[in-house]
Amino acid sequence: MGGKEQNFVNEAFATNWIAPLGPNVTEFENAISNFYGNKVHAACLSSGTAAIHLALVLLGVQQGDEVLCQSFTFSASANPITYLGATPVFIDSERETWNMCPELLEEAINSRMKSGKKPAAIIAVHLYGMPYKADELQDIAKKYDIPLIEDSAEALGSVYKGRKCGTLGDLGILSFNGNKIITTSGGGALVSAHPEFKSRAIHLATQARDEAPHYQHSLIGYNYRMSNVLAGIGRGQMMVLSDRVDSRKKNFEFYKAFFADFSEISFLEESEGIKSNHWLTTILTGSFDAREKIRLALASENIESRPLWKPMHLQPVFASCPMFTNGVSEDLFNRGLCLPSGSDLAENQLERVVGIIEKNVS
Ligand SMILES: *Cc1c(COP(=O)(O)O)cnc(C)c1O
Repeated sequence: MGGKEQNFVNEAFATNWIAPLGPNVTEFENAISNFYGNKVHAACLSSGTAAIHLALVLLGVQQGDEVLCQSFTFSASANPITYLGATPVFIDSERETWNMCPELLEEAINSRMKSGKKPAAIIAVHLYGMPYKADELQDIAKKYDIPLIEDSAEALGSVYKGRKCGTLGDLGILSFNGNKIITTSGGGALVSAHPEFKSRAIHLATQARDEAPHYQHSLIGYNYRMSNVLAGIGRGQMMVLSDRVDSRKKNFEFYKAFFADFSEISFLEESEGIKSNHWLTTILTGSFDAREKIRLALASENIESRPLWKPMHLQPVFASCPMFTNGVSEDLFNRGLCLPSGSDLAENQLERVVGIIEKNVS
């Protein structure tokens, strides 16, 4: 925590706003809008997953539809597609950013359209905080007139050619889960330049209650609003977001400098005009065995590291979904490792980590 969170939480208690609405929710939403130069409207929700679910609902995704989704991601990007009875169609990654491959995306759109089905939406992800190829993906989305949902759950604070991640799609998704760069313990937000998306999202997130003295409903709603207590944490966390990005970048720079001369270890690097929030520092090793050797050596010293996300097209639960693959995400999954990346890692802790890796680079 940054320090101010407790004050805002205390405010919620002192004013008895213990509810999924209240001043902290409003102010947290304002702080998010502010962060984006007031170019977006933010609706705070109970999770990033809920935000993706509502984004799909707002775009009219229905039973039987297909939604194009980045395969190399956390399952929460894809799960909400199935909540609606729609089918995910998984798209593999490119090597530069590890995110959705524009060529494969276009191939998938053409292929699905030939078989008589135009995809209802695209979900692209800035994995590990590294912005996806936004110009290329947006051009394709526009060309085929398919809305683009930007899963920015891992990329709050990242910047693509001067534009902050969260504002690069038709609808942006943020997560404040406990593992993200800032947190409300659990929470998320839907952000969009279109004010009607915010008002419709809040309506759906509060059981879609119509304007009436009694309880009346014309739509199926959800209980997805953020708690005013947790929004207090969010208000305090927004004040330290840039510090958190600095800390994460410091981790990355430390690891990168240490392994500069190790040909067996490479990093996910920013290209010109791109700024990652460096949510997690990830490395690529030479092989699956080399990766496992490092991971197990760290584990034996009680240091947690973790393989990269297992692609959705390789997950048992999605085995029957259509997929457009090129081997990239599977290779990254086999050889990649997330290193300890907390915002509060001290230099001696980082030194301990690299010391163990150094001894186990094969
Ligand atoms: C964390 C995460 C989500 C889901 O957010 P929650 O707030 O945990 O529901 C979605 N997509 C990606 C890429 C994530 O990392």
